[in-house]
Amino acid sequence: MRIGFIGLGNMGGPMAANLVKAGHSVAAFDMSKPAVERAVAAGAQGAASANAAASDAEAIVTMLPAGQHVRQVYLGDQGLLKTAKPGTLFIDSSTIDVATARDVYAAAKAARMDFLDAPVSGGVGGAAGGTLTFMVGGEDTAFQRAKPILEKMGKNIFHAGGAGNGQAAKICNNMLLAISMIGTCEAFVLAEKLGLDHETLFKISSTASGQCWSLTSYCPVPGPVPASPANRNYQAGFTAAMMLKDLKLAQAAAQSSGAATPLGAQAAALYTLFESAGAGGRDFSGIIQLLRGQPQA
Ligand code: NAD
Repeated sequence: MRIGFIGLGNMGGPMAANLVKAGHSVAAFDMSKPAVERAVAAGAQGAASANAAASDAEAIVTMLPAGQHVRQVYLGDQGLLKTAKPGTLFIDSSTIDVATARDVYAAAKAARMDFLDAPVSGGVGGAAGGTLTFMVGGEDTAFQRAKPILEKMGKNIFHAGGAGNGQAAKICNNMLLAISMIGTCEAFVLAEKLGLDHETLFKISSTASGQCWSLTSYCPVPGPVPASPANRNYQAGFTAAMMLKDLKLAQAAAQSSGAATPLGAQAAALYTLFESAGAGGRDFSGIIQLLRGQPQA
């Protein structure tokens, strides 16, 4: 297939490379020249603009930083929806606000094009290994068209419902993850104060009702889960800044929809504090240091 790929950063670069490896012809564009050069080295054709990457493509994947970039690339004066052919399939894998995803979907539908929001989890490791989880919102016919492409970049592909529901699934999941991580950290910090060692709490809680992914797969103290970032001084992994971005999206969605998310709000406040202490680039599980009163230790 001829696929356009726009946004070749930490995630988009390796995702585009996996499409090349699967035998697709990929036209790649990014505002950063070195990013395009890396994609060309991986076997893609470099394109001079987003429109050039899209001009001859049956499907286009975008992987951009935030909602404002997605609006600009799709809806701007020279936006993709003005120039692409009717029938084109667009897959936006950026993590953005639900409202922008729904606006772009509506504009694409009016132009007789298919648009899916398809944010991912799995990080740069998942992008490189082709093992991402995709959470997809949009029409079923578009989802069926996109599935064979998504399967070349990911392992688990979920259709979460109509337009915007992929983004909704992503922010609900990450809000839950932030809350469970902070709860896990609090339990370890309290255990330290009470003279209960990490390994013992881990053994008990991982088989008791406190069990959760933050504890058993991504433990925020060194030792119990050797692969977790706690064992390498909270080198990310998934940065606190990225978690804060998702928590802010969740809070904006909660406000506009009227959902009560008091613990999500508290998690956003704590990650804001952690970031303003200079720790935005550290792994999000490093928030245990903030709870100990030593955000940079
Ligand atoms: P990144 O900053 O590394 O890459 C974004 C790329 O988009 C950059 O290369 C930038 O030059 C390019 N870009 C920006 N505006 C553009 C435009 N108008 N036209 C063309 N290119 C443009 O970010 P990333 O880590 O690859 O993340 C991309 C998205 O994936 C974000 O929405 C992020 O929240 C989400 N995400 C990231 C991770 C992760 O671990 N990095 C995990 C899950 C989801």
